[in-house]
Amino acid sequence: MVKERYLGVDVCPLNMGQVLLEVDRIIMERKPSFIVAINPEKIMKAQEDESLKNLLNSATIQIADGVGVVIASILNGGRIRSRVTGIDLMINICKRAAERGYRVYILGAKPGVADEAVKVLKERFHGLNVVGVRDGYFKDEEEVIEDIKRKNPDILFVAMGSPKQEYWITKHMERLQVPLLMGIGGSLDVISGNIKRAPKIMRKLGLEWLYRLIKEPWRYRRMSVLPVFLCKVLRERFKR
Ligand code: UDP
Repeated sequence: MVKERYLGVDVCPLNMGQVLLEVDRIIMERKPSFIVAINPEKIMKAQEDESLKNLLNSATIQIADGVGVVIASILNGGRIRSRVTGIDLMINICKRAAERGYRVYILGAKPGVADEAVKVLKERFHGLNVVGVRDGYFKDEEEVIEDIKRKNPDILFVAMGSPKQEYWITKHMERLQVPLLMGIGGSLDVISGNIKRAPKIMRKLGLEWLYRLIKEPWRYRRMSVLPVFLCKVLRERFKR
């Protein structure tokens, strides 16, 4: 697959359906692979952090999670035209898992939140086989790793915030031997109903960031990177 590259960070030009086909392939081939969500904030952070840049680029699939990445692709004559958000992909993977019998393990969020999210997911997708659930505030890492290995899932979702979850995934993925690993950030808080997502209309219009800004104004620092990111992408394009 030919990836697009923005300020040195790879992004896959895949839509939701295409990513799901890749998920099937990864689970069939069983070679440990991981999916990371890319947004302008992460790309900007990676400008000052080479190990973060390498980490993001070492993922098997980088999804275009932020609307800023779609705009960058349009400005650059790339092929990315729609977001594949981490939470939408996670939910779609769970749907697929229920249909195809994939075994799912969920690790992360505060005690009780993941259990609540699993309840919601199981109600929505009958037959979803969740083989293990753990909160993300464990002390004994070895015990968690042994539990995951014992339960032998096809898919491991890790919800410990980014990039902590991605560092955790890459550190342990060879040992875990789980085919598909994916960091899902705060998705369990949303699915469990602890945090509300933007209304559908705002999401469709690419305004989810505005909703989050209103709800969680302290995030404004994180979001203010968008214009700087787009200027840098344009500068990079004209240099070429
Ligand atoms: N979290 C965790 N363990 C930690 C730190 C964070 O399980 O050591 C969880 C936290 O409870 C929350 C999620 O990770 O559910 C982070 O969500 P946030 O929205 O900050 O992540 P982002 O999507 O911005 O990466």
